Amino acid sequence: MSDSADSEIRQKILNYTEKYRQKTGTQFSTVEGVKESVINGLVKNMAELGKPLCPCNFYPDKHEEIKHRRWLCPCDEMQMYKYCHCLLYVTSNNLPVTEHLPEAHEGRQMYGNNPDPAPDLGRALRGQSDAEIEAWHRGE
Ligand code: SF4
Repeated sequence: MSDSADSEIRQKILNYTEKYRQKTGTQFSTVEGVKESVINGLVKNMAELGKPLCPCNFYPDKHEEIKHRRWLCPCDEMQMYKYCHCLLYVTSNNLPVTEHLPEAHEGRQMYGNNPDPAPDLGRALRGQSDAEIEAWHRGE
C-alpha cells in the first residue's frame, strides 16, 4: 500500500472514531500508546480487508469474520453496551463503560461497575434481540 493510500485510510479512521467518540459522550484513552495502537490496528485491518475490523481479538479467519459484522468498529458490544474492550473509547478514568453490561460479562468482572457519563448518547443497538441485530447488519 502506498504512503498516500495509508494516510488516506488513517485520516478516515481518525475522522470516524472522533465523530463516534463525540456521539457516545466518551473520550479517547489517554494512557500512553493505547489510542495509537488501536488506531494503527484499525488502519491495518481497513487496508487489508476493506473494513475496520476490531484489532483486539484473535480471528481464525478475518475474511470470514467481517461477513458477520459484529466486530466492525464500532462493534456490537459498543453499540449495545457502550463497552469498548480495546479501551479506545473510555471515561475520564481511562476505563471502559461497564454500567450497561450483563452482570456476568467479563468486563464487569475486570473493571467493576464504571458508569456511563452520557447515558442518553449512543447505544444504537440497546435492547435489540439477536434477530433484530442480525437484520440490522443486513441493512434491513
Ligand atoms: S472494542 Fe469495539 S468499539 Fe472498541 S475498538 Fe474494538 S471494535 Fe471498536
